Amino acid sequence: MGKHRMIYDKKIPTQEEIEKDFQEFFKQKYGDGVSVSLGYVGGQESSSEMTVGETPEPQTTFDLDFDLKPKEIKNYLDRYVIKQDDAKKALAIAVCDHYNHVRECHENPDAAVTDYSKQNIVMLGPTGVGKTYLIRHIAKLIGVPFVKADATRFSETGYVGANVDDLIRELVSQADDNLELAQYGIIYLDEADKIATPPNIIGRDVSGRGVQIGLLKLMEETEVDLRGGNDVASQMRAAMEFQQRGKVEKEVINTRHILFIISGAFTGMEKIIKKRMHKSRIGFNAEVASPTDDAAQYLSDVTPKDFIDFGFEPEFIGRLPVHVVCNELVVDDLYYILKHSEGSIIRQYENAFNAYGINVLFADCGLRKIAEQAIEQKTGARALMTVCEKVLRNFKFELPSTGVEEFVVTSTVVEDPETELHRIINDEKYNRNMVLRERVRRYEAKFYDDHDLEIKFDESATDAICERALSQEITIQQVCDDILSSFEHGLNLIKQNTGRSSFTLPKEVVDNPDPVLEEWIRESYNTKR
Ligand code: ADP
Repeated sequence: MGKHRMIYDKKIPTQEEIEKDFQEFFKQKYGDGVSVSLGYVGGQESSSEMTVGETPEPQTTFDLDFDLKPKEIKNYLDRYVIKQDDAKKALAIAVCDHYNHVRECHENPDAAVTDYSKQNIVMLGPTGVGKTYLIRHIAKLIGVPFVKADATRFSETGYVGANVDDLIRELVSQADDNLELAQYGIIYLDEADKIATPPNIIGRDVSGRGVQIGLLKLMEETEVDLRGGNDVASQMRAAMEFQQRGKVEKEVINTRHILFIISGAFTGMEKIIKKRMHKSRIGFNAEVASPTDDAAQYLSDVTPKDFIDFGFEPEFIGRLPVHVVCNELVVDDLYYILKHSEGSIIRQYENAFNAYGINVLFADCGLRKIAEQAIEQKTGARALMTVCEKVLRNFKFELPSTGVEEFVVTSTVVEDPETELHRIINDEKYNRNMVLRERVRRYEAKFYDDHDLEIKFDESATDAICERALSQEITIQQVCDDILSSFEHGLNLIKQNTGRSSFTLPKEVVDNPDPVLEEWIRESYNTKR
């Protein structure tokens, strides 16, 4: 104690000074290859301005005022995640159950603990369909920390201990060192199917079983000492605290309220389910047609027994009562993600070009083409980013140094980006025309949104509109508003008479809108239903 006082009385070294001394020591002992940092391992670096005298107290208080209803969670997820409706519902219910229970325990810690089994979740589904994305958004909505790791990280060694401590440390770091908040966090383990050990495969390593047992304890309830790590950083933090306070407080996280989600593609699971369903049918209703061969169809019927047959320990799967299936995404879904998800990567590209004063317009045909190319890669929505990067990389490189202020990503751009980039830069008239045409398409889309009437100017009508906008130096909106001033009313009359709500508008409409409309209305009375 006296010795530490002396240090105190002399001079308190800064974090940098301690780091430097350690660095020197390690360098002498081990050479240049070893480096030392006082930051948290696996988490955010601690502030570089922090000195020993200013070590912050870990925050321990936190108000969990969770009052969401399942429908509110689902509605929130709908804004970002396309499809996966069943998954959203099941998750919303499980998450509400979990955090309602946590809140009760939080508000009334002394109440007798009733039997409650935690709503840990298994998510099944191919890669890139929104499994992680769903959970990330749930964590964000509720305001709890979220950590994702690959289960394979454990199976390499077959040893869970140190890796688990790391996960918990990451959770604390995500919670800005608020230990209590960290105890209500979400841990997401991907590639969990890789820690299954199928019983009938001979010679396969059995480490997966050990990992399951290790995780089991964590999912149930255990205490992880954050100071217990063997890493240099946590040792040094403890040493600093000892120097400062004369003792080291234990920093313990209890995993009782941490929500665990394991996920994976579980390839082959549908065969196990199919076999079971087929078996149960034999002898009692053999003629029943087997359900469609759609893997997701089978997965939605998954039972704990199927997980056991897949290679999971009964105790392990018993701690994961909620089964959630995410389906494969098709081209339409990928298109819809780009067009409508609030988290669409298109916003990212718009912002990136905006930073150079360039306005990028993604045409519907371009978005569809991106979706079509992405689906080929078989990595779900993840491929959207890969395709966009490939298509637009050179645009990002070249355009900021040109005079181009606006351009459209059409299907031609997606198919042949290099040729189109060259044209956009070198043929101003061509580029202006593409932009104007896209504005016509957007006018049509807005007309549909506003009036529930689908209009489409054909090729020559579109050309005529663009020409007029250029020659009169007015916007596409002004040209179209002028042409269609009577059309909302007129087309609605036709709709009433014939039920028709979709109209192709030829060049005559641009040249003589009202006479053409009157003729159409007259005809509609003749064919009135
Ligand atoms: P995984 O199912 O493998 O966990 P992710 O959830 O990480 O896949 O998806 C990767 C990315 O793809 C997400 O960050 C998100 O941008 C996008 N994405 C995937 N599925 C969807 C979806 N259903 N709706 C909207 N975006 C999605």
